[in-house]
Amino acid sequence: MKQTREFAQQLIDFCYASPTAFHAVATTRELLEKNKFVQLHETDSWKIKSGGRYYLVRNDSALVAFVAGSAPVAEQGFRIVGAHTDSPGFRIKPAPEMLTEGAYLKLNTEVYGGPILSTWFDRPLAIAGRVALKSKNPMQPQIRLLNIRRPVCIIPNIAIHMNPDANTGFTPNKQIDTLPLLGMITQKLEEKGYLGKLIASELRVKESEILDFDLFLYEHDKGCLIGTAEEFISSGRIDDLSSVHAGISAICSVSKAKATCVMACFDHEEVGSSTMQGADSQMLAEVLERIVIGLKGGRSEYFRALAASYIISADGAHAVHPNKGEKADPTSRPLINRGLVIKLSANRSYTTDAATAATFIQLCEKAGVKTQRFVNRSDMRGGSTIGPISSTHVSIRSIDIGLPMLAMHSIRELCGIEDHSAMLRVIQELYQS
Ligand code: ZN
Repeated sequence: MKQTREFAQQLIDFCYASPTAFHAVATTRELLEKNKFVQLHETDSWKIKSGGRYYLVRNDSALVAFVAGSAPVAEQGFRIVGAHTDSPGFRIKPAPEMLTEGAYLKLNTEVYGGPILSTWFDRPLAIAGRVALKSKNPMQPQIRLLNIRRPVCIIPNIAIHMNPDANTGFTPNKQIDTLPLLGMITQKLEEKGYLGKLIASELRVKESEILDFDLFLYEHDKGCLIGTAEEFISSGRIDDLSSVHAGISAICSVSKAKATCVMACFDHEEVGSSTMQGADSQMLAEVLERIVIGLKGGRSEYFRALAASYIISADGAHAVHPNKGEKADPTSRPLINRGLVIKLSANRSYTTDAATAATFIQLCEKAGVKTQRFVNRSDMRGGSTIGPISSTHVSIRSIDIGLPMLAMHSIRELCGIEDHSAMLRVIQELYQS
C-alpha cells in the first residue's frame, strides 16, 4: 500500500515536471540517465551490446528506450510498450498579443487536440514549451526548453448574468471565448512583443535571438491524491503520462532480460500521430531495425524478430462514470482501482484480438493484476489510440490496454492509485517474459 501510494505520488511529480511533450521527454531522460541508459543519436551508427541500456530522442518530443536482451533478438524478438507524451490543450499562436478595450492584453491561441474546453476557464495557467534560437549552423538551431512556472494568465468565464446559457449548453468559440488574459497594459507592459520579452528574460537571451517557439498553456496547480482513502490521483495529463511513467519505471527496473525490452513514447497522438515523431511514422520500425543491425543482424533477423515480438499499446481507458453510467456499454463496465482495461473494438480502432488478449491476461495473472474490459456502446463512436496506427508500420502482435480513468481530456483527469501500480507490475512482467 505504501509503495502504491509512493508510486502514485511519483506520477504526480512526473506530470508536474512534464507540462508539455518536450518536458515529458526531458523528465524521462533524467530518469533514464540516472539508471545508466546511454543516449544514441540517429546520425551515428549504433553498436549495441547484449544487456546494454540505450535511448534516443526524436525532435525533442518523442523517445525510445531499450534494453538489449541476452538471447538472440531474431529468436526472442522485442517486448514493446507504446505510449504518448502529448496532451490536449492550447498552443500559443505566432504574434500572439491582442489588445482589447485599449487595456486588456490577451494571447491568441489555437486548440491542440480535443480538450474539454470548459475545464480551462478560471484556472491559473502557466506557459511552457520549446524555443528555437539563432545558431551558427542554420541546420542545427539552438533549442531551449522553457517553463514559466508562474500563474501568468487565465481564461475568465463570462458572468452567468451575461451568459444565461452558461449551464444549459454554452459552446465556447475557440477564437473568441478561450483566449487567456495576460495583464493590463501599463507603461511597463506594452501590447507588442510582450511574450518575446518574457521569453527572453526567462531564458536570459536577447529578444533578437528568438526565431520561433512551440509554446503551450498548462494548469499551474500541481496534481494531488484525493478521495477518503486517497485512492484517486487527480492531475493534468494522466492520459497518457501515466503509461509513460509506468513504462519508463518498468524498463529502468529491468536487470536481465532474454528478449529486447523497448519503451516507445510517441508525440502527437492527440492530433492523429502523423508526424515524424508520431506513431504513424517509421520511427519504431527504424529503431527496431537499427537495434537488429547494431547487434550485427540483417534484414532476415529483423523480420524474424518482429514475428516473435509483442506490443502493449498503453493509453487511458474510460471507467464507468459515477453520474453517467448509461454512457458505458451495458455489460463491460470498468471501474477505477479494479484492474487494467483491455480495449476492444469490432471496427479495429483498437488492435486487441482474442489471441493478443490471452497473452496479456496471462501476463496480468503472473503479475497479480486483475483485468477488466472496455468496448464502446454500439451507438457511440469512441476514440482511437497509437496501437492500430503503429501496427500498420511494424507487423507485430499487439494489444490496446489502459488504466481506467474519468474526465479524460479535462485539464484535470482522475485515475486510481492501485491501477497505476498494476500497470508497472504488468509491464515488468512483459519485459521478463
Ligand atoms: Zn491518450
